[in-house]
Amino acid sequence: MKNIAVMTSGGDAPGMNNAIRAVVRSAIYHGMGAYGIYYGYEGLVNDHIEPLTRQNVSRILNRGGTILGSARYPDFKQLDVQRHAANNLRRREIDGLIVIGGDGSYRGALALHEQGIQCIGLPGTIDNDIPSTDYTIGFYTALNTAVESIDKLRDTSFSHRRCSVVEVMGRHCGDLALYAGIAVGSEFIITPETGFKKQETLDAVRKSYLSNKRHAIVVATERIVNVHELAKEIESYTGYETRATVLGHVQRGGTPSAFDRVMATEMAEHAVGLLAAGIGGRAVGLRGKDLVDVPIETALTMEKTVTKKRYGLVGRLVE
Ligand code: ADP
Repeated sequence: MKNIAVMTSGGDAPGMNNAIRAVVRSAIYHGMGAYGIYYGYEGLVNDHIEPLTRQNVSRILNRGGTILGSARYPDFKQLDVQRHAANNLRRREIDGLIVIGGDGSYRGALALHEQGIQCIGLPGTIDNDIPSTDYTIGFYTALNTAVESIDKLRDTSFSHRRCSVVEVMGRHCGDLALYAGIAVGSEFIITPETGFKKQETLDAVRKSYLSNKRHAIVVATERIVNVHELAKEIESYTGYETRATVLGHVQRGGTPSAFDRVMATEMAEHAVGLLAAGIGGRAVGLRGKDLVDVPIETALTMEKTVTKKRYGLVGRLVE
């Protein structure tokens, strides 16, 4: 393979820059040229593609976001648009492409792979919703941000004897809420996996009030329940004055954690190794301590395993 390209697509995530850097440097190591595609599939279709040198990716290790930019571009579902994109790559003699993004971005990568471009998917999303990997690039950084923010909310909740209802991101995956709930000792979590059980939520918070706890925390994944409405219901049912906080996009930013930097670097290096060996159509992931790769189709169709025991931890350990 003579040249390979890298792009970031969908929602940005801390650690994407580490993956971009490792792609470029590994490509050079393997004797290949590296190109950056700006603003995801939209940039690819509009030919916004530029060579990347070792210097272009220096001093980005600690920067959140993505230096290549990202975009959502629904037109990429069209076959003629995909063909045009593949031709833009072929014209530059780019035979391999690494797409860093979520499952939508993987679908785009699969489509391009079917157009004859060797594509590799890297899981870049704070949502941890890619079943072919234990962790996605950005998840742990976003989790740390959420935990830090909830710790701060707890300080003020404690002072005022309040309940905090906190909405975190995650789309269809409850991992951010689950792990944050464990890390902050929340009374209750509401996730797509648990569903919203209103009475259980109210009872858990009321129990906390009746046992004289000075604060309570409920963590909810976005899009399941209106946290402002829920806060009102908790207030009238439990006795706690209750406030809702939506953490929002702060969870996407910030310097990537050491874990995300290392994982992103290793995954990217693995991806380039596959392309250098002429292998495409794979999605890279981490299983336990091992880097793995599976067909992109498999990554898109497999079920995400949920650790029931971990869900049981939330609430059970709250004194
Ligand atoms: P994420 O990659 O974070 O899941 P999206 O679902 O928004 O984010 O997908 C990112 C981009 O991937 C979309 O804007 C689109 O350009 C491309 N994409 C998504 N689904 C498909 C599909 N079925 N076929 C081709 N491209 C797709």
